[in-house]
Amino acid sequence: MSQGQKFLDDVIGRIDDAAKKLSLDHNIHKTLRTPRRSLMVTFPVKMDNGEVEIFTGYRVQYNYVKGPSKGGIRYHPDVSLEEVTALAALMALKCAVVDIPFGGAKGGVACDPKKMSMDELEHLTRRYTYMILPLIGPEQDIPAPDVNTDYQTMSWIMDTYSMLRGYTVPGVVTGKPLQLGGSKGRATATGRGLTYATEEMLRRLSKSAKDTTVCVQGFGNVGMNVAKFLHMDGCRIVGVTDMTGGIFNPKGIDIPSLAVHSEKMKGIRGFSGGEFVTEMAEANRRLLSMECDVMIPAALENQISGSNASDVKAKIIVEGANGPITRDADEILNKKGVHLVPDILANSGGVIVSYFEWVQDAQAYLWSEDEVNFRLKDLMTAAFGQVWNSAEKHKVNLRKAAYMLAVEKMAEITRLRGIFP
Ligand code: NAD
Repeated sequence: MSQGQKFLDDVIGRIDDAAKKLSLDHNIHKTLRTPRRSLMVTFPVKMDNGEVEIFTGYRVQYNYVKGPSKGGIRYHPDVSLEEVTALAALMALKCAVVDIPFGGAKGGVACDPKKMSMDELEHLTRRYTYMILPLIGPEQDIPAPDVNTDYQTMSWIMDTYSMLRGYTVPGVVTGKPLQLGGSKGRATATGRGLTYATEEMLRRLSKSAKDTTVCVQGFGNVGMNVAKFLHMDGCRIVGVTDMTGGIFNPKGIDIPSLAVHSEKMKGIRGFSGGEFVTEMAEANRRLLSMECDVMIPAALENQISGSNASDVKAKIIVEGANGPITRDADEILNKKGVHLVPDILANSGGVIVSYFEWVQDAQAYLWSEDEVNFRLKDLMTAAFGQVWNSAEKHKVNLRKAAYMLAVEKMAEITRLRGIFP
């Protein structure tokens, strides 16, 4: 079975578990376990060497009962329809957990951006935008950055969409630069939100940041920012991995210096502030079995599975990536007593500030960074409290509680709206 199919089966399986536990009406359940629209596109891009290459891309709108669908765009060789559908479902659940008026979507193109020039990436992005144009728009479906896409990708999408419409439409994407209608605080929002989620968990376990050791898998937008914020809180970051290897230092890694190094060298390889492991698989093996208080997987899905979950020694896992832990690993970690803050709660900071960006674009009015961060903390802390209370009420772990909360909210809206026609 492909990794994408496994990921999708896990997400749908968790929705099924929540529906069962809630004794959900079986007709409503059917609507929540299937995606509404899935678009697959194949399109040509002229490469720098004059050759034309054909790429395959997707956009999946999993659910839009709550409002426009929302979700990032990923560029990665492993992108598939199943992976994008699983990620779109997680977006729908996430927007429900944190009470923002969006459904869930995701997009992606199967490509290796590390081997492409900026010109090639721009052509690919513009043509992909053209191909998914019938689905996207500020009131329909709003893309954002995900793995290997960033503010520049969003700028190209916004420009392409605007050119084809004939007027400037900032609200078609979020995660844009400030000059194009982006929001202050968006670039760091997922890392900041993860930090709030970690702080809430530590507070409930009566642990202080100063006595907490952390390891982080992935040092991109999410991993680097959460490492920076937790380091500022006083936590000791003892291990970090990315695609170029892993750095380990029990005394604590100098995260601000690692961030500067990584930006400059396009990866953490070559950083001297600790013991460096150059082979990625070995570095990840070591990281996932490290003695530490908190582990933050912030790279890709299916990283902690039935085959390595029993090696985990962390007491708390806060999911930065979407779907980093498989369903069979959940059972093992649960039995070990690991406190797990699930992705649909923990990494929701990005979509929350994307929502703020969309609101600011609609108002054509820029909020201050303090206001963005204050509102982010407010929504995340409220959602954490709701999930915590739901876990206590139903006597389940935080993953199950978050899924039950999301499924219950989406089911209620579906019930009120009814089935068309
Ligand atoms: P990114 O492209 O900025 O960074 C990805 C990082 O992971 C890079 O450092 C890369 O080297 C590393 N990586 C990739 N494969 C790895 C592996 N096998 N082992 C160790 N490191 C590996 O992507 P990102 O935006 O930081 O997204 C990371 C995860 O967080 C994804 O699952 C994404 O869906 C999720 N997420 C992102 C956002 C956001 O706002 N960007 C929001 C919510 C969730």
